[in-house]
Amino acid sequence: MTTESALDTALSQLRRAIEQLSLSENEWQTLSTPRRVLEVAVPLRRDNGNVEMYKGFRVQYSTTRGPSKGGVRFHPEVNMEETIALAMLMTWKCALTNLPYGGAKGGIAVDPATLSLAENERLTRRYTSEILPIIGPERDIPAPDVGTDEKNMAWMMDTYSVNAGFSVPGVVTGKPIVLGGSLGRTSATGDGVAISTREALLHRKINPLGATVAIQGFGKVGYWAAVALENMGLKIVAVSDVHGGVTGFASIKDLWDHFLVNNNLDAPGTERMTNEELLHLDVDVLIPAALADSITEKSAPKIRAKIVVEGANAPTTPEGDAILNDKGVLVVPDILANSGGVIVSYFEWVQDKQNYFWDADEVKVNLNSIMMRAFKEVEESATSGKVTWREAAHMLGVGRVAQAHRLRGLYP
Ligand code: GLU
Repeated sequence: MTTESALDTALSQLRRAIEQLSLSENEWQTLSTPRRVLEVAVPLRRDNGNVEMYKGFRVQYSTTRGPSKGGVRFHPEVNMEETIALAMLMTWKCALTNLPYGGAKGGIAVDPATLSLAENERLTRRYTSEILPIIGPERDIPAPDVGTDEKNMAWMMDTYSVNAGFSVPGVVTGKPIVLGGSLGRTSATGDGVAISTREALLHRKINPLGATVAIQGFGKVGYWAAVALENMGLKIVAVSDVHGGVTGFASIKDLWDHFLVNNNLDAPGTERMTNEELLHLDVDVLIPAALADSITEKSAPKIRAKIVVEGANAPTTPEGDAILNDKGVLVVPDILANSGGVIVSYFEWVQDKQNYFWDADEVKVNLNSIMMRAFKEVEESATSGKVTWREAAHMLGVGRVAQAHRLRGLYP
C-alpha cells in the first residue's frame, strides 16, 4: 500500500458520504481537515548503548463531539498519512456508535519485535512524554492498536501520572485491570466482531448455529472473535497468523492450547494453507482481522464467503469493495464491525472518571446493546436508502459530526 492510498481511500469515502448527505462544500472542507497533527522524534537508547531515532505521530482528527480517542500503533509502516486516515475512521466510528468522543490515532514507525522489553518501555515512555502536552482524560485518550497492548498502556499511564504528580488512570484505556482497566476490554473488539457476525448472518437468514467462518489474523482481534463465535455455536474452519493459515483443528480451544505450548498453529490433525487460500475458502463468513489491504482487486474476485466482517481497520481496498458489492457479498464495515474495542474503552474511561467499577456482565450487556443499536441503524439505513452498509455507516457517522459542527458554530 502506498502512503497516499490509506488517506485517499478515507477521503473518497468521506466525499461520498458528503454527497449522499447533500452537505456543503464548506462542510467538506471542515470534515476533511484534521484538527491537530503532531510529529515527534522519539530517541531510544538501545540496550547496547546506541541511540536510535524513531518517528512518532499523534493525530487528533476531530474534537467536535468530545475528547479525541484512538489507538497507538507500533508498526514499521506507520506514517503520517496513514495515521490521519485511521484517526478519521476513529471519528466516524465514535460518532456511529454515539460515543461522546472525537477521533484520534497515533503510533511509532517501529517493529516492536525488534525491541527488548526494556527498550519497548523506554520508547513508549519517551513517546508519551513527547505527546504529553496534547493528551489527557479530557483532551485525547490513547488506547492499544496494532503492536501495542496493556503493558504499553500501563507505561503510558505511569509516565503521564508521574508528570502530573498524581495517578491519572483515565488518560489511556486498555490498561491492566489493577490499574483501572475494565473487565472485558481485552476481548471487546473480538466480542463486537462476533456480535456483528451473528447479526449479519441473521440478516441474510442464515442460522448462526453451525455457520462456517474463516479468520485471517489470530491476534488481539481474530483470536477473541474466534473464541466468542465458537461459544455462539459457529464453526471456525480456518485461521491464520503471519506465517500462514491452518485448517482441520478440533476447536479454537485445542488450537490455542497447542499454541501456548508450541508457539505455532500446527496442532495435531491440522493442515497448512496460504493466507490467499484462506481468503478464498467456501465459508459463510470471512473475517479479515489482520492489517489493511488484504481484500484487493486481486483477491476479491475469488472470495466465496457470503459475508465479510471487517475485524481490522481498512482491510478492503475500494477496488476490492466494488468487486464484493458486485458479487452480492454483504460487507459489514470496519467502523461498525470492530467498534467493540472503543466501546469498552469508553466504559473503562467512564469507570475511571467515577472510580466505580462494573462487573463483567454489565460490560457485556452494555457492549451488546450499543453494538446492536449501531448495527440496526446501519442495517435499516442501508436497506431503506439502497446504499451499501459501508456507505450507510459513513453517512451516519459523518452526519452526526456535521450536525455537531453546525450546532456548535464557528469561533470566533
Ligand atoms: N485501536 C482500536 C480501534 O481501532 C481501539 C481504540 C480505542 O479503544 O480507543 O478501534
